[in-house]
Amino acid sequence: MKFYSTNNKALRTDFKNAVFHSLPADKGLYMPEEIPKLDPLFIKNITQYSLQEIALEIAKLYVGDDIPAAALKDIVADAINFDAPIHFLDSEMGVLELFHGPSYAFKDFGARFMSRIMGYFSQEDDQLLDVLVATSGDTGGAVALGFLGVPGTRVTILYPKGKVSKVQEQQLTTNGQNIRAIEVDGTFDDCQALVKQAFNDPEVNQQLRLTSANSINISRLIPQTFYYFWAYAQLRIQGISEVVFTVPSGNYGNIGAGLLAYKMGLPVKNFVAATNANDTVPRFLTSGKYEPKPSVQTLANAMDVGDPSNWVRIQDLFDHDLPTLQNLIHTYTYNDEETLAGVQEMYDQYAYVACPHTAIAYLAAKAHRAEHPGTYASVLLSTAHPCKFPDAIPASLFKEVRLPAGADHLEHGEKQAVPMSASYDAFKNYLITNK
Ligand SMILES: *Cc1c(COP(=O)(O)O)cnc(C)c1O
Repeated sequence: MKFYSTNNKALRTDFKNAVFHSLPADKGLYMPEEIPKLDPLFIKNITQYSLQEIALEIAKLYVGDDIPAAALKDIVADAINFDAPIHFLDSEMGVLELFHGPSYAFKDFGARFMSRIMGYFSQEDDQLLDVLVATSGDTGGAVALGFLGVPGTRVTILYPKGKVSKVQEQQLTTNGQNIRAIEVDGTFDDCQALVKQAFNDPEVNQQLRLTSANSINISRLIPQTFYYFWAYAQLRIQGISEVVFTVPSGNYGNIGAGLLAYKMGLPVKNFVAATNANDTVPRFLTSGKYEPKPSVQTLANAMDVGDPSNWVRIQDLFDHDLPTLQNLIHTYTYNDEETLAGVQEMYDQYAYVACPHTAIAYLAAKAHRAEHPGTYASVLLSTAHPCKFPDAIPASLFKEVRLPAGADHLEHGEKQAVPMSASYDAFKNYLITNK
């Protein structure tokens, strides 16, 4: 299958090129030239399949021409090696837990699949693939753990000093092997600027084979469709066939994948985009005017995005048809105070401690159900394990949070990070002298 740029449908490229160059030269985003349909018979019989089997069936539709079946099967099995169960809060509402991967966030689905795809295509090249990534927390952990030990690759992560949580920092800095962490004395924007400058520096590009692990990479979007079908399979086993998915949204990659799954034939009644104060999309769906704003800092900081880059993909998927988008996607917005109350309410009512992003989804799912009663199941996507967000969970609840099994290294692992000022000269010098 070929991929086009959302800015120019005539510009087509193959999967490998779309993966290694996250962005087309015209600064659009890559989209599949046609949305493949998952076989209706497969969907009808979906309760017979495992998450890995569903994932392989979907992956084949997109990359079956580019990667031989046996290799793709290994990639999927190796990337999606953890579950995504639904935890039912009651008979109407379930939490789709997407945090059972190594970084305890849903970004593991995208990052692990992408890293193995890049590793596969890099076998043909003898030069090391250098992945540069700036992170405000969750992306870096998923990318680091996704690429950890993948032959032919090396990851350099830049993160802002003192601005990520303890668990996040441990995930970034205790890996060793092919993962390097740089602790930048600055903000996330500084980190991003350094990475951008390196990508645009001819001298650096001559000496290193660089790629980004950007969240808009098409090889991160595709695997995020897997768990929507898997959630549907789990509901069908319970005899439920109508579903509304509520997605805590920041850059709109997660919900974008849900909408892609819908276009592939997944039966979904509605999507709910749940946001914090960064409400550019909810305002757009109300007014029809897209007016991005600078991002506002909130407790659910993985959703602090004022100009979500994946939104153009969603517009493209629906041919910019506003009424259709308005009918399909409902939106709800919550401030920090409401978010904290949501965390508390989930604990009080269901003895369930959720991360702040998940709590926003919970509030939105509840509000949506109140406005649109029905017999459908509300499935809210839980994007991260609560242990990653100690500052956003009341202390009395946080003490109930257990680190996932096998996470002891996060408490005891030794931090290895290179301290650096937010200066491009320092960064460039580091890259070149540590080739
Ligand atoms: C990245 C992230 C989100 C937002 O997902 P998008 O795909 O950017 O909309 C929500 N919650 C958590 C925990 C995340 O890491």
